[in-house]
Order: sequence, then C-alpha cells, then structure tokens
Amino acid sequence: MVVELSTEAQFLKGVGPARARALATLGIRTVEDLLHHYPRRHEDRSRLRPIDSVREGETVTVGGEVVDVRLTRLRGRLSLVSVTVRDGSGSLDLQFWNQPFRERQFPVGRQVVATGRAGYRRVLHLVAPEVEIIPDEGEEALIHTGRITPIYPLTRGISGGAMRRMLWNAVHEAAGLLGEFLPDAQREGRDLPPLSAAIRGIHFPADQEELGTALRRLKHDELFLFELAMALRRRVAKSMPRANPFRFDGTIDHRIRARIPFALTAAQERAIAEIVGDMTSPEPMTRLLQGDVGSGKTIVALYAVLVAVANRRQVALMAPTEILAEQHYRTFRRLLEGSRVRIGLLIGSLPAKERRATLAGIASGEVAVTVGTHALIQQGVEFRDLALAVVDEQHRFGVRQRAGLLVKGTRPDSLFMTATPIPRTLTMTVFGDLDVSVLDEMPPGRRPVRTLCFPRTRYDDACRYIRSEIDRGRQAFFVFPLVEESEEMPLRSVIEEVERLRREVFPGVSVGLIHGRLSRADKEEAMRRFRDREDLVLAATTVVEVGIDVPNATVMVVENAERYGLSQLHQLRGRVGRGAEGGTFVLLGDPATEEGRRRLRILTETTDGFRIAEEDLRLRGPGEFLGTRQHGVPELRLADLFLDFALLTRVREDAFRLIAADPGLAAPQHAPLRCELMRRLGDRLALGGA
Ligand code: ADP
Ligand code: MG
Repeated sequence: MVVELSTEAQFLKGVGPARARALATLGIRTVEDLLHHYPRRHEDRSRLRPIDSVREGETVTVGGEVVDVRLTRLRGRLSLVSVTVRDGSGSLDLQFWNQPFRERQFPVGRQVVATGRAGYRRVLHLVAPEVEIIPDEGEEALIHTGRITPIYPLTRGISGGAMRRMLWNAVHEAAGLLGEFLPDAQREGRDLPPLSAAIRGIHFPADQEELGTALRRLKHDELFLFELAMALRRRVAKSMPRANPFRFDGTIDHRIRARIPFALTAAQERAIAEIVGDMTSPEPMTRLLQGDVGSGKTIVALYAVLVAVANRRQVALMAPTEILAEQHYRTFRRLLEGSRVRIGLLIGSLPAKERRATLAGIASGEVAVTVGTHALIQQGVEFRDLALAVVDEQHRFGVRQRAGLLVKGTRPDSLFMTATPIPRTLTMTVFGDLDVSVLDEMPPGRRPVRTLCFPRTRYDDACRYIRSEIDRGRQAFFVFPLVEESEEMPLRSVIEEVERLRREVFPGVSVGLIHGRLSRADKEEAMRRFRDREDLVLAATTVVEVGIDVPNATVMVVENAERYGLSQLHQLRGRVGRGAEGGTFVLLGDPATEEGRRRLRILTETTDGFRIAEEDLRLRGPGEFLGTRQHGVPELRLADLFLDFALLTRVREDAFRLIAADPGLAAPQHAPLRCELMRRLGDRLALGGA
C-alpha cells in the first residue's frame, strides 16, 4: 500500500489495529499526526564507551562483538540470558531476566550496540539493556542505540521500542511527503530548514547540530502559527468599522475630570489616553487594562464609561461577585452624584420587582450605566444600544461569558480589566489579540505592606500582634481557605474557628464572619459592620479577594497560606494597607517542602505583582496559573514561553506583518500556510471574540 500523509496510522508498517487504538488516545490518527508526535527528549547514545572504562552505576552505551550466549535456568521459573560482548578494551555481559527468547536474538560473531545501567556482581554487566545488532553495510541504520536516540511520550499498549520503530517507519516512508507551508520569505528570513528535514531531524538526528536546527524550525512553527491565529482574530475584530465612533473633546474631558476627586497617576493618564484613542477610532476597542491591586483601575474604567455616557450611549460593567458589583455601583453613584446619569444594578439576588424595573430601564435606554454580575449576560437582558462593555477581574470569567456580554451590543467597545498581573509572556500569546494598557504605578501616599511568614507554632505571636493593632484602633482580616465552589475547609470548621477567635483570642473584640454561603443581605451586613468599625476583626473566606476597600484594615492573617497560589496571596495582600498607614500581611503555614517555603518567601521579598506572577507562572505552568476557565493557552509541545521568549517576540512581528499585508491569507502563495493553520488551530480560530 502506498503511504500518504492522510493514511490512517494503522496501515503503517509496525502499527496495526491494536497499536492504532493506543495511538488514538494520544490524538494520533494519521501518518501525518504520527510525524508530529515529537520526542520528549533525546538521549545521546552515539558515543561508545570503552568497556574497561565502565563503572558500576553508570548508564552507558557500549559496542562490540558477541562472543558468548548462555541461558541459565534457575529455581522455579527464573531464567537468565547472558550475552558476553567484547570490544578492544574488555568485555561485559548483557543480562536479561526471564526472557529466554533472547538467547536466539544475538548470534555469536555479530556486532551489537547496547545502552543500559552498569552493575557488578561477579562480572560487569548491563541489566536489561536496549540492544541492537549493527546492520551490515547498506542496511538501515541503528534506531534504538548507538545514536542520538529519541525518547517518546508513551501510552498504554505501546513500549518505548515499539514507538521508536513506528516513528522510524513513518519518517522513512512519509517525511519526504511533507510539503512546505511556510512562505519562502519567512523560511529564508529566519534561516529555517525545510519541514521534511526538520521532521527527520527531530526524530532521528545524525548529530546535535541537526537536532538543534530541527528544534528551531519546529518551535518556530508552533509559535508562528499561534501568532498568526492571533493576528487573524484581531483582524476580524478590527475589520468592520463601526457605524458610530465616540465623539470626544476638551469639554467632555473637562466634565469628566471634574468628577475625579484626586490627581491621576501618570500611568492612569496614559491608559486613559490609550482608551480614548481607541474609542474615537473607526475600529472598536478591544483592550486589556492590567494593574496590580490598588493601582486604580476603577477610575480609568469610569473615565471610559463617562465618555460613552457623554455620547448618550449605554455601558455595562460586569464583575465576578455581587459584593464587587455593588461596590462599583456605589462608587459610580457617589462619583456621579447630582448628575442625571441613571445607574442600574443587575445581580442575581435582586427582588423580582426591582429586577423588572431595571430591565425595563436598560431596554428603553434610560439606564445609561448598568453594573452587574453574570446576571448581565442572561436572557431577557436587552440593551437599547450597548456601546461599551467593561469586564472587571476578567480572568474570573470564561470565554463564553465575556463573549456573552459583547453580543448584547453591536460590536461594542470592550475593556477587560485584570488585577492578576499577567506576565508579558502570556499577554503576548493568550491575549495576543488584545491591546494592552498597564498601570505600573501606585497612587501616591501608599505605604508598602509588610509581609511576615510564620509557622503555625507562632500562631500566638501573630495573634498578639493583631491584638496590639486593634488596641491602636486598627482592624484585621482573618482569611481561611474556603473557596466558594470547591470547599477546602468545611464551613463548619470555619465557624468553629471563629467561635474560638471570639472566645479565646480576642475576648471583648467583636469578630464578624463573611463567607460565600451567606445571603446577599448577610454579606452586605457583614461588610457594612466591618466598614463602620462595629466589627474590628473580620473572619473571611476568600470572598475578600476581590475588590473590598476598607482603608482602616491594616492587618491580614492568612491561615494555611501554603494552599493558595502566589498571585492569589498577592491579591489578598492588596486588601490591607490601602490607607496611608501601611499594613501587615501575615502568612501562617507550614509548607511541607523546600519549594513551598521558597514560594512563600517570594512574597516577603517583593511586592511587584509582575514578578510574583512570573514566578507563579513558572511554578504552576500557564494552565493552572490562568485557571481552568481560561481559554486559549497555547498547547506548546516544543517551545517554552520563557526560554523561547525572544523567538516568540520575533515571530509575532512576522505574523502580524504578514496578516497586515494579506489579511485573509488569500494570496496563492499563502494557500499552504492557510491550510496548515486550519489543520492545527482551526478550532481556535472559530472561537472568535476575546
Ligand atoms: P484596583 O486597580 O485594585 O481596582 P481601585 O480602582 O479600587 O484599584 O483603587 C484603589 C484605591 O485607590 C481606591 O480607593 C481609589 O479611590 C484610590 N485611587 C485610585 N487612583 C488614585 C489616585 N490617582 N490618587 C489617589 N487615590 C487613588
Ligand atoms: Mg478593582
């Protein structure tokens, strides 16, 4: 049978139906898929060690002539095949336990190469080595040893040797069929080998240099295709000019600024200028506003909101929790006091009557600004003319939810805000289709938060410290690891713990409790009591993570700190020291590993959210860092977002330049590229939207 790239893998020599089923679990169906099953790593088995230099415990590759083969039967069903191999320097035994068939595999007189771990018991030997007979002149080359050997990701039902054999066959039968999909300019400009050569080189390189060249090409392809997808998506988002850009002039600017009670930071000014630039341009805005907790994103959003309102258009702001939505609602109400702008609140727990009234106002256009939660994207919420969609803490939402808000308008401008600083590496990829503004400066007068790390044994010291702060008129948060959806600590034990705090630790101090199971009214009440200093300590589950602003709260204690992600802890830390006083952040925990201790130590060393995020990303990987709900983390098999960052930056430029020149990849010379892009990333392209 003639093998083609599209041939099912099972028809390839050495595969067959059973292994084909196993391959399918790795996502491999065709010969082409198999060719793209890259090795996990390579082992250099190309250098043969003189046998007399081999020491016990080393993993080595040796070569020589088979001089003796013995099968020994021992007690029971035990057997041992020993194959004695000699080179110019000495000899050793290859030992195979309970594989009597090995006796006939290695004829005396043949040359073999073997890789394995050396042992010594009466004789020097290699235990269960990988062995190959050196082929006679003109036959195929060595596959498993005596060369730079590929080590593959495996699956049940396929051994390392079988996988390597299949890849060998696939490469020899089909690698030459791989057509070139990169435009010549790109391939030559970046000095890359042809695809078929790269595929040969990644699987069975002749030397390290060939391997290096192959890797360079294939990493390039992964990143280049991903960035092309980004460039295309962005192009789609920007291609249809909107009917109705926003007007903006000095009067509007003046009126908005009159409502802002402080001088903006230079970073805020810069972000606002970028946003206004987007809003007044003929293409809709798709912008990500990044800034550490407390960097002042809300006021930047407010500015954008008021530009839209001045144009008599509608705005929606979506936040991940009711507490946060309500806080934004209140902030906006306060800042717009005395104006005619109508602001609506839309959250799940609204009484039916209020909800109906708000929905009617949204539909008629009377409600200019709607602040809400997921309730905003539900059916029945109809805007008359939604022109600007703002998503706060955007990483708490899934792709569909974000897109769900956008479809409530006709190509509205969108502003996504995030307090999880996203390392530049990820903005480039995951958010590669968005423009980015960064607030890299804190409002003035903020004192840095002191961070202390205590083992549980020093719990009493931590409490004494809090006590002294309370006696000075300050307030404190106590945070427990109970996440709203996935309970890590049963609610019951949080309540018991709080009882204990009240009785034993802070007698005479009023301790409040807030957690995700409370009704909205009770949460609201708990927040209010804390804000108004009726409660001086607030025990909380991580619902405090987002948003809450209580300047007098100067201490936060986090129990079992080792259970949180670094970025999450950093977010929590942003809740204290919001006033001019500076605050203290106490991590209580006993990390089980040195790695865990190192993690927590990073927080004591820096308050730079971007550095923490980089570290978090490095420790947990992009998938976990961004959370399971995040979309679009590229599945990179060869490239590494950190190590290959320079390459990423270069190919991103190439990709965006190419799409600028040929927006639909419609030119005939780009047809193969378009095909490859659809083959590898078609589902991602179809996603649309941010
Ligand atoms: P975040 O970026 O975490 O959403 P906020 O927008 O909630 O931060 O701002 C944090 C606090 O800083 C708020 O109390 C806000 O009023 C205040 N703030 C924001 N910008 C400034 C500024 N330029 N000068 C002084 N205070 C500011
Ligand atoms: Mg915020």
